[in-house]
Amino acid sequence: MADPESTIINTSVTQKDPNEALVIAVTTRAIFNMEKEHEIFLAKGKDEYVKHQQANENISLEPGTAFAFVQAVQFVNKKLLERNPEEKGLFDVIVLSNNSPESGMRIINSAKQHGLEISKFCFVSEEDSTQYLKTHNVKLFLSADRTDVCNALQRGVSAALIFQQEIQAPSTQLRVVFDGDAVLFSDETDRIFREKGLEEAVRYEKIMEAVPMGEGPLKAFALHLGKMRKKFGQEDSPIRTYLVTARSGRDMGIRTIKTLREWGLAIDEAFFMDGAPKGPILSKIQPHIFFDDGLHNIQGAQDAGIPSALVPCDC
Ligand SMILES: [Mg+2]
Repeated sequence: MADPESTIINTSVTQKDPNEALVIAVTTRAIFNMEKEHEIFLAKGKDEYVKHQQANENISLEPGTAFAFVQAVQFVNKKLLERNPEEKGLFDVIVLSNNSPESGMRIINSAKQHGLEISKFCFVSEEDSTQYLKTHNVKLFLSADRTDVCNALQRGVSAALIFQQEIQAPSTQLRVVFDGDAVLFSDETDRIFREKGLEEAVRYEKIMEAVPMGEGPLKAFALHLGKMRKKFGQEDSPIRTYLVTARSGRDMGIRTIKTLREWGLAIDEAFFMDGAPKGPILSKIQPHIFFDDGLHNIQGAQDAGIPSALVPCDC
């Protein structure tokens, strides 16, 4: 890219075809724990921050919330290539950062030291770096900045907000959990529930039973992930996908399943929680990432040590 405002560093990782790969963009604060550094930036300004990063250039940053997810994605790539050495439909992880290239050296070094396969580091100085998401064919964007996430969603890119949190170390199989309403699906039924109560929401679902739900902000990513999932069988899959929804299976399950079927999206396991807390089931699943639009669900998941990503519904 000839844009003077941005620096893109291609690393030695084998370049993937962005038209065939499932491109995931993460920001530096999503993938690494940079709370201390971010505080320096906020309290002392950019120059002090750059100085700090340069002075600590060879000191590796600690893993952040999205770190285990990126590692699991690499594991899936390994399995895809074992299956077919010519495979083009791989995950491709890029780092999108508001750091300048001088302060970015520590980030590149940290990724190398942790053995992360990042194909591109994009150091962009613009206020709104999400303008690069479409250029790079990004299908999922994870950021610790709410404005970034909202900008990405408005550009039609599946995106979620990451908070720095303590996480457990999950197994290697990539496990992704989606909430239903306002995440995979539109918020049409949620709105009726909020405005008119549960009874009306159930009635609406009954009337609309044969009509698939509208698409939610994470649908596009889920479909791409589902396509990759289909390359593997039941037994040996390195990917497992889940739906964990507050809906009750009895009253609101049918339309959910019909919608997934209509989209051709096969989910390995679905849990209809009927309003019960999601934390306990998430503890059992041990996902690498859990997407939800409800802050109470995100908090419950964080308390259980589950890496969580908020899909804001009020951008
Ligand atoms: Mg929801």
